[in-house]
Amino acid sequence: MNFHEYQAKRLFEAYRIPVPAGDVATTADEAVAVAEKMGGERWVIKAQVHAGGRGKAGGVKLVSSLEEVREVAGNMLGMSIETYQTGGRALPVNEVLVAEATDIASELYLSMLVDRANRCISVIASAEGGVEIEEVARTAPEKIHTLHVDNTEQLQPYQCRQIGFAMGLDGKQVRELTHILLQLYQLFMEKDLSLVEINPLIINGEGHLQALDAKINADDNALFRHKDLATMRDTRQEDPVEVAASEHDLNYVTLEGNIGCMVNGAGLAMATMDVIQLNGGKPANFLDVGGGATAERVTEAFKLILSSDRVEAILVNIFGGIVRCDLIAEGIIQAVKQVNVGVPVVVRLEGTNVEQGKQMLAESGLAIIPADNLNDAAQKAVAAAKEGAGA
Ligand code: GDP
Ligand code: MN
Repeated sequence: MNFHEYQAKRLFEAYRIPVPAGDVATTADEAVAVAEKMGGERWVIKAQVHAGGRGKAGGVKLVSSLEEVREVAGNMLGMSIETYQTGGRALPVNEVLVAEATDIASELYLSMLVDRANRCISVIASAEGGVEIEEVARTAPEKIHTLHVDNTEQLQPYQCRQIGFAMGLDGKQVRELTHILLQLYQLFMEKDLSLVEINPLIINGEGHLQALDAKINADDNALFRHKDLATMRDTRQEDPVEVAASEHDLNYVTLEGNIGCMVNGAGLAMATMDVIQLNGGKPANFLDVGGGATAERVTEAFKLILSSDRVEAILVNIFGGIVRCDLIAEGIIQAVKQVNVGVPVVVRLEGTNVEQGKQMLAESGLAIIPADNLNDAAQKAVAAAKEGAGA
């Protein structure tokens, strides 16, 4: 689950990680009230969307009067922002963060993440912040400092100091960085996070470290034990199809291609996508209908797949292990009738009661293309999608 910057900063504050003063606003009036209450003469108005790169997209603006706060916040609210991180979607700006404008002496980079390759939590830091870290990694990899945290020893202060000195910080700043990193680690562990990124972490006008930006990602599978985090979810920022899928306990991810996939089991779904690609096609989605695929869930799954107008063909690949193929066939027939599927549907069934299932599909009178195995199914789906796209 993703968080807004202002939510991440509230968590930072709770863990005594320094951030510039500020608060969230949903209207121009509220924005002015926040600025007035905070005092000062210069503020920064920041669009709250689940993506970075806002600066370049007009989502971060410095202002120096209350009239300007009203005008800029008013313009930003209701606007949509597309950045290199939004995956081609424009995200709605329903909230802005009004913060005190900070003097920046230097922009640094700091992140903490679940590092699957090294099976640990890793810290990544660089004195080159404020820019895309991927760019620094490409052009000046020696400027990126990585620390693998030992899972039993946990993060140690001396390791934080090493990172600080490697970044060229002075003694006082190294102490501040050590505090920030240890607190961040505690936050990370206690809240089951998968990523924290502070870009930029700044050295302000007085030489102190502050988190100017904050991006947090939490592990969805742990949300049941973090009710406080779960309430921060903002589904308006998420792919609407993925939101609908999660409401039906379906594992769904939107992809770029034109072959809709309905599969039971995540492993089989991955394999199905691979075989589609091997046959020259492109999947439109990842969808795991789960082990207990019922007629209702199959119907919902069809609706989800068809909500994308890119889909030219659907490949159903079900292995009847826990579920029976005849029940799945019933679900498919029901769904195709109910949802009014206008594209070819290729079905490959295997497992318990497969003969019964196949017979039901054949006798249904629906234009379902049966397939004998996964490769056969993929070939037929790719051919059907090509025909659909060409027509
Ligand atoms: P992002 O573009 O979505 O990552 O948004 P950031 O919060 O990182 O802001 C982008 C850039 O705007 C930062 O790298 C800073 O250079 C600048 N910026 C943001 N807040 C302030 C501020 O309070 N004062 C000043 N001077 N610049 C700021
Ligand atoms: Mn940033």
